[in-house]
Amino acid sequence: MVRPSSDIWQSFDIEKTDKKSKAICRFCCFKSAFPNATRMTNHILNQCSKCPLEIKQKNGKRYQSPFN
Ligand SMILES: [Zn+2]
Repeated sequence: MVRPSSDIWQSFDIEKTDKKSKAICRFCCFKSAFPNATRMTNHILNQCSKCPLEIKQKNGKRYQSPFN
């Protein structure tokens, strides 16, 4: 079964407003007005202070940081 690489979205809630949608981090309530998988992954790996290490490792495996 082919699944999109969307595990990152399991760490976020999507809040839909009138015409836009926001992604809200489930761990620290960070909101992104421009949700996309790259930004969300970057948040979890580099910015989120409340995300469990387990989640970071899980998402880190499929994310190649351009800053490495
Ligand atoms: Zn967060």
